[in-house]
Amino acid sequence: MSTATLPARVDIVDARKSFGTLEVLKGVNLTVKPGEVTVIVGPSGSGKSTLLRAINHLEALSAGYIAVDGEPVGYRLRGGKLHERREKDILATRTGIGFVFQNFNLFPHLTVLENVVEAPLVAQRRNRQEVTAKALELLDRVGLADKAGVYPRQLSGGQQQRVAIARALALEPRIVLFDEPTSALDPELVGEVLDVVRDLASTGTTLVVVTHEMGFARDVADTVVFMDQGRVVESGPPAQLFGNPREERTRTSLSKVI
Ligand code: ADP
Ligand code: MG
Repeated sequence: MSTATLPARVDIVDARKSFGTLEVLKGVNLTVKPGEVTVIVGPSGSGKSTLLRAINHLEALSAGYIAVDGEPVGYRLRGGKLHERREKDILATRTGIGFVFQNFNLFPHLTVLENVVEAPLVAQRRNRQEVTAKALELLDRVGLADKAGVYPRQLSGGQQQRVAIARALALEPRIVLFDEPTSALDPELVGEVLDVVRDLASTGTTLVVVTHEMGFARDVADTVVFMDQGRVVESGPPAQLFGNPREERTRTSLSKVI
């Protein structure tokens, strides 16, 4: 797949988020370099989804900021201060960020092809013919060229997730975020989805993947980030995190899940 769009860089600076009195992000600092694959691992409840959702402003941070290509998501820098951006502008930024959810979130009443073309037609107001051609190319790429006319319920979980990936790519995103893309799947379907993500990684799009699949993290990540209790405990290349972690907490936690 040609990636005409440049991969994005993400800077997460002292990101904090509270739900009521519960502080779930306690000052996260992280840089995602353009074209790199960052895999976030960590126990359930450690704030991984909240962090991912904050990158495209599905969650607003309580403090700190996240910038995509130097532009704070959800805010505008004016006179040295951050100002809340208009919903319309936030939506425009969000269309450059692909998001793949654990439960696929396909539109059940639309066919596979209609699912893939919906956002480019509606949110990006692109030309139907061009968008359809691109969608068919993407479906072919994820191995579902023959499923364009069927409905999501007629597909396996793995196939549905591959449609969801094609749908995210149809927006020609500069970055794609994956929140546990395989954890709702039967074990025998995990591989086919990870293969698609792996393939995507090789095209140089910036990817941030939350997953419990440690083999995938080890093989595909440029950087592995281990989160626990709202903080980044340690981040670095897979060889460091899995082979020679600096922190005791990384060692005990990652040796448990492998
Ligand atoms: P993870 O993805 O690592 O499992 P989450 O980011 O989903 O962690 O959640 C971190 C913590 O924040 C959990 O304790 C969760 O219950 C809480 N949480 C997440 N979303 C909300 C919300 N909308 N309202 C209240 N608490 C939330
Ligand atoms: Mg989660």
